[in-house]
Amino acid sequence: MRTEVAVGIDIGGTNTVLGLVDRQGTCLAEASVPTMAQDDATTFVSRVAAQIREIHTPLTDACVVAGIGIGAPNANYYRGTVENPPNLSWKGVTPLVSHFKKWFDVPVVITNDANAAALGELQFGAAKGMRDFIVITLGTGLGSGLVANGELIYGADGFAGELGHVVVDPQGRWCGCGKQGCLEAYASASGICRTVFELLCQMRDDSEFRSVSFRDLTARQITDAARRGDPIAKAAFEYTGRVLGMKLADSVAHTSPEAIILFGGLANAGDLIFAPTKRSMEDHLFGIFKGKVKLLPSNLPAGNTAVLGAAALSWTELLKTR
Ligand SMILES: [Zn+2]
Repeated sequence: MRTEVAVGIDIGGTNTVLGLVDRQGTCLAEASVPTMAQDDATTFVSRVAAQIREIHTPLTDACVVAGIGIGAPNANYYRGTVENPPNLSWKGVTPLVSHFKKWFDVPVVITNDANAAALGELQFGAAKGMRDFIVITLGTGLGSGLVANGELIYGADGFAGELGHVVVDPQGRWCGCGKQGCLEAYASASGICRTVFELLCQMRDDSEFRSVSFRDLTARQITDAARRGDPIAKAAFEYTGRVLGMKLADSVAHTSPEAIILFGGLANAGDLIFAPTKRSMEDHLFGIFKGKVKLLPSNLPAGNTAVLGAAALSWTELLKTR
């Protein structure tokens, strides 16, 4: 009997990664295609479809595609659409699910990458066996997926869990979304770079960043510098953790999660980000929640986490119908 696999597809601004993932979370084949942000959606989908066929063909005797799960920016689970995605040229509402259905006669489902990551952790990672948890993705921006009572929350319109755009400071930094003071403008790879430049103005300490231009600065450099003891880099992590922990404490009040899982580039800084975030979260938690919420790193294998998340989305839907 052939093994059933779900195709997991993660659409990024630069690259789209895809893979064939079985029920246990093993990725049997993987590929990547340039997203080519200026392509129209129909051309893009035909290229991705050709790539899926290419990696599946050598495995035709071993596995059969049961469904497709897609993680994409501004994806709407209910409508199967992508709506004015940042970093892609598709304007307005793109019916991505129906485009894929022209190529594959299997269930196709879509959500944003952070929601997919939450389902990935639930099925294959750190949240196995949990019913209530939150996943925070700390990439260029900040995404989140909320699972309550064992189910991912999509909300009335399908966009639930946009914690990147809750307000930290109404007079604070401008966010890429057009609002002022969003969490994402502080707690993300781009946010911590902005913090370093603020601290360079406010602190007199020597730092390797005194001679670096803003355009060249990356979150990775800040992590490395903090590990070498750079006082500005260390203070930037402290500040980021303080802001993030404060807003996580708010989120705990909404859904009472068992754990919050930090995922993505900035989370790989380990204790540099986890320690101040945990401290600040505990400081700001309402009494009944204090000492009860775990702050955990992702437990998905590095490398194909986005594909596993998207495949987990497909598996979640397939299992509902069986
Ligand atoms: Zn925002």
